[in-house]
Amino acid sequence: MIVGAGLAGLYAAYRLEQCGMQDYLIVEARAIPGGRIGCAVRANSTAVDRFDLGPTWFWPTLQPQLNQLVQGLGLKCFPQHEQGEMLLERAAVSAPARMRGYVSEPPGMRLVGGMQSLVDSICGYIDPQRIRTGRRAKALRYNGERIEIDSEEGCGRRESFVAKHVWLALPPRIAARDLEFEPELPHALQRQWSATPTWMAPHAKYLAVYDRPFWREDGLSGEARSLVGPLGEIHDASMPGGSAALFGFFSLPANQRCSEPIERLYANCREQLIRLFGLPAAAPAAEFIKDWALEPFIATHADWLGVQRHADSPDETARFGSWQGRLRGIASEWSTHFPGYLAGAIEAAEGAVMSLTELNPR
Ligand SMILES: Cc1cc2nc3c(=O)[nH]c(=O)nc-3n(C[C@H](O)[C@H](O)[C@H](O)COP(=O)(O)OP(=O)(O)OC[C@H]3O[C@@H](n4cnc5c(N)ncnc54)[C@H](O)[C@@H]3O)c2cc1C
Repeated sequence: MIVGAGLAGLYAAYRLEQCGMQDYLIVEARAIPGGRIGCAVRANSTAVDRFDLGPTWFWPTLQPQLNQLVQGLGLKCFPQHEQGEMLLERAAVSAPARMRGYVSEPPGMRLVGGMQSLVDSICGYIDPQRIRTGRRAKALRYNGERIEIDSEEGCGRRESFVAKHVWLALPPRIAARDLEFEPELPHALQRQWSATPTWMAPHAKYLAVYDRPFWREDGLSGEARSLVGPLGEIHDASMPGGSAALFGFFSLPANQRCSEPIERLYANCREQLIRLFGLPAAAPAAEFIKDWALEPFIATHADWLGVQRHADSPDETARFGSWQGRLRGIASEWSTHFPGYLAGAIEAAEGAVMSLTELNPR
């Protein structure tokens, strides 16, 4: 049984299918799979005209396992657009400064059609009957032989499942907050999971879609940093073969963002883009805000308040007791090399699949 259909849960299922192990089920609390991966779609657009509201970049040379997956699925990638000058906004009263652009090495790579292409592509290899969306896992009981998993749909309808192993493909902090374990998890493990911040959970993105990348015509890369806000870091989000776009991460903390009327947030973002990129920024063809802090199955109150850092990965299973080896964390935060990143979700899930195939050689 896999709890959570973000990248880690989906990838684990994809690999189980490849290994000929089809006796698994994924329960996913949200109505759609993908977890922190999400996209905005411009109305009446082509399949590629999608823009990342969650993760945007990966780094193939540093993250070969993820790159192998992307290549194996036949997905097309391209480097983040960084050609041109960047802007720095120090104060609302003075014009933003133009400066030499910063070119990342190695470059962050994006996917044509956005990271959603990765989710869609993996889902194509998973039997849809094996993903139960809109159903949250609530309690796990080990009865000495098997694990019973109680789940609940949004309407309150409950269903229980039985499994030999459970893989937690949800952030450790959410698992510690929302799942009841019988017998209890070792207290040190429960504390460790509760203390692990969920990467990017307190963040939000604003995205504005345009018919043409007018900033590029002005010699600008679309990249900007601002001490004024509401966006702190802005990038070109244009999609090859699709529309032009800019996106920014909010620098306003979650509690301030969420206390503002959404129309004011949109207006303030537009105003900032006009200050930076001029009047053509005033009329986006479409605009979106995605606030991950408001996602109840991804962000907790502790994520709103805590300092964001890539934490050390917590223990993936109990070191002793009934849960040892039967219950395993496979979400990104449990990865050793890339905790919090997409590549971490792949690494952590692959580790679980490898250990299962070693236990059950075919
Ligand atoms: C704004 C933003 C920008 C980012 N940028 C990047 C980037 O550029 N590059 C990068 O590498 N990474 C980035 N990340 C991080 C990346 O998105 C994550 O590392 C990755 O998506 C995590 O996947 P996961 O499957 O481990 O967890 P998640 O995607 O969090 O999936 C967990 C799933 O579990 C489900 N769930 C929760 N509770 C339950 C329950 N009780 N029962 C059933 N299901 C449950 C959730 O609904 C969710 O679908 C970014 C994240 C955000 C939010």
